[in-house]
This record gives sequence, structure tokens and C-alpha cells, in this order.
Amino acid sequence: MTDISKRSWLQSGGLMSAGALLGCATPGITQSSVKTPFAVPAVYLPIVGSDEMYPVRRVYCIGRNYAAHAREMGSDPTREPPFFFQKPTDAIQNVASGTVADHAYPPLTKNYHYEAELVAALGKGGRNIPVDKALEHVYGYTLGLDMTRRDLQRAMGDEKKPWEIGKSFDHSAPIGPLHKVAQTGHFTQGAIWLKVNGQTKQNANLNQMIWSVAEQIAKLSEAFELFPGDIIYSGTPENVGPVVRGDVIEMHIDGLPNLSVKIV
Ligand code: MN
Repeated sequence: MTDISKRSWLQSGGLMSAGALLGCATPGITQSSVKTPFAVPAVYLPIVGSDEMYPVRRVYCIGRNYAAHAREMGSDPTREPPFFFQKPTDAIQNVASGTVADHAYPPLTKNYHYEAELVAALGKGGRNIPVDKALEHVYGYTLGLDMTRRDLQRAMGDEKKPWEIGKSFDHSAPIGPLHKVAQTGHFTQGAIWLKVNGQTKQNANLNQMIWSVAEQIAKLSEAFELFPGDIIYSGTPENVGPVVRGDVIEMHIDGLPNLSVKIV
């Protein structure tokens, strides 16, 4: 059985039944006797300077983590604890550095938004991780776009229904290759910007995050047990906005190569 088919079994309905069967916390990791009727692709991020790939387990995202963005979304940043949502792992669209990847305009929306974000990738899991130890859990960093069907997100919010259709759709997470923390250090400050067709739209500093990466990891680990392979989109600054077919998005974080996609 190949690694990919093992993982596809993990991601399929086999997980629960075999989990019960084996009675272990991470069923199937070493299971080699399971047959599946079809393969489901696993999701990886290339690791820069390595022939290894980073396997993605979960994609967490923090909401409204820059004060000015929280205000433009209509909330009061001073009174709001952090909140998180997830995108499905296979929402990831790998984008190589130095390329402009085609990104398909998704169905159902008439207001398709970019959100430029720093992404932290964990190499170590845990529960109730203290803030002062949290960065020890980071394997590396990259930059990513939290693409959003804003009209659908807002409509669902207005009806007090889940955001999923606005945030967690296919290909909604374009992302760059992963840079090991040993090579980049941690990202507590530095410019983050996004341009559309060469025109600056978002322009802020990572030190303007309401909740730092370390605090995000700590808070998230109170709600979920974290594992290696979990990645965290750390929120977007203000001035999110729409793109249409033909637009080219370029995003930047100091210390990382830029990420570019063309909406097609
Ligand atoms: Mn976001």
C-alpha cells in the first residue's frame, strides 16, 4: 500500500470504523492492510531547500485579527476574543514562487475578495500550549491568500448560518512553498502588502496583528488538540476588496518571496 493510499484511507470514511476497531488516537497511520476502492490525493506544501514535502493535516484561519480590518468588517476589535474557522485541506492551491498561477474565479459569487495573510505551519502539536512556548511548535512559514466569496459570507452571517460557503470552498487557499523557521526566523513584524494589477490595495505591518502567531497557537490549542501538519492563516489587514477575471494579485511579506495568481 502506498503512502498516498494510506492517507486517502485516513481521509475517507474508513477512519471512524477502523479507529473504533483499533482503539487508538491516530488510527490507520501504520495500518497497511486496508484496501480502498479509489485514491484520494494527499495535500502537501513543498519545503524550500529540501526534498521533503510538508503534509497538511488541517487548515485553521483566524478571523478579524487586524483592528482596522475588524472595523471594516463591522465589528469592534477591542471587545472581541479571537475566533477561528477552517478551510478543508484540499482547498489548498500550491503556488510556486516566481510564477503567476491561474486561479479560477469560483461559482456562485459576484463579490470575490482577496485577503493577504502570513501562514504558520506547525511541526509539533499539543493541547493548552503556553504562549511563551508556542513558537517552538512552528516548523515554518509561508504566505497565503484567504480567498473569500464575500457576498455569500455576509449573507450567511446575516442569517446566523455557518460561513462555510463563503470561506471554505474549492481552491480557496492559494499558498506559497514553506520556509523552515531555521532559515527565516519568526515573523513578529515586517511589511505585508497586496497589489492588484500593480496597484497597492493592502499595506500593513505584521506587528499590527491583534493576536500574535504565538497567541493564536496558544488560543487555538485550548479549543483543539493541535498536531504536526496543522497550518494557521493568521488573518488579513484592512482594505480587502474584489477581483474579477483577468486581475493579477501579487502579495508580499518581508523575508519571503512574493506570491502571485491570475484570476481566470
Ligand atoms: Mn482571513
